[in-house]
Amino acid sequence: MKPILDYHNHTILCGHAIGEPFEYVEAALKQGLKEIGFSDHAPLVSHEDPTVTMSFEQLPRYHQMIEEVKSRYAESDIVIRVGIEADFIPGYEEKTRTIVEGYPYDFVIGSVHFIGDFPFDNPKHKDRLKTDDINQVFRDYNVLLRQSAKSGMFDIMAHIDLVKKFGDKPTEDLSDDFRETAKAFKEAGVAVEINSSGLRKPVQEIYPSLAVLKILAETEIPITFGSDSHAPGDVGADFDKALELAKQAGYREYVAFEKRQIVKRIAL
Ligand code: ZN
Ligand code: FE
Ligand code: FE
Ligand code: ZN
Repeated sequence: MKPILDYHNHTILCGHAIGEPFEYVEAALKQGLKEIGFSDHAPLVSHEDPTVTMSFEQLPRYHQMIEEVKSRYAESDIVIRVGIEADFIPGYEEKTRTIVEGYPYDFVIGSVHFIGDFPFDNPKHKDRLKTDDINQVFRDYNVLLRQSAKSGMFDIMAHIDLVKKFGDKPTEDLSDDFRETAKAFKEAGVAVEINSSGLRKPVQEIYPSLAVLKILAETEIPITFGSDSHAPGDVGADFDKALELAKQAGYREYVAFEKRQIVKRIAL
């Protein structure tokens, strides 16, 4: 069994993905998916980096690309959703809000890729995870997750234990931290994605881990699924494992979004 939707797919505009949107849709059809959501990296609000996200000038082009592929597959059984993955950077909330409210997205994925000036998931900076106190990095990251949920800008929180990407795990039990984060998610009404891309990274684990996912299940946080594909071949990757993990954590269903609302609950 596999989830029928994949809400986390990129485009070439972010500067580190390959393939045309229609190739992602073809891959989704091949995988038997009923819904594919595009969620490319929104323009960075703090600084420009063409290797990380699209620019503000490219935003209309992004919408146009997805609208084009939507009409191309209008007669097909697959539903194409338009989302965006926006970074949470404290101090830049208003600028971020302009992006996420500037277009009728089906969902907005909130991501934390920066702790202060530390782009912790960027391979170029990964050595810092070896010298910094790893437990503190996870704690700081959790604080940002809570802040981003509370900002009200996001519908789905991305890869919520991304700090482990290069295999760096906490050496202390941080379940209380994640419990507090889950509580903040509950209050904010956000969902969390099960993101299979960690299996393609040094950590070789889905985001979030089973332990974290169990906390989310206890707190009754809705879940969705995303492959975080940056190439057509990764659409729906390892979704059988992602579904199994959700069940193991105690989940019975996942949700579908349209126009920033949960519109469907699908049994696992
Ligand atoms: Zn990316
Ligand atoms: Fe991300
Ligand atoms: Fe992504
Ligand atoms: Zn992502």
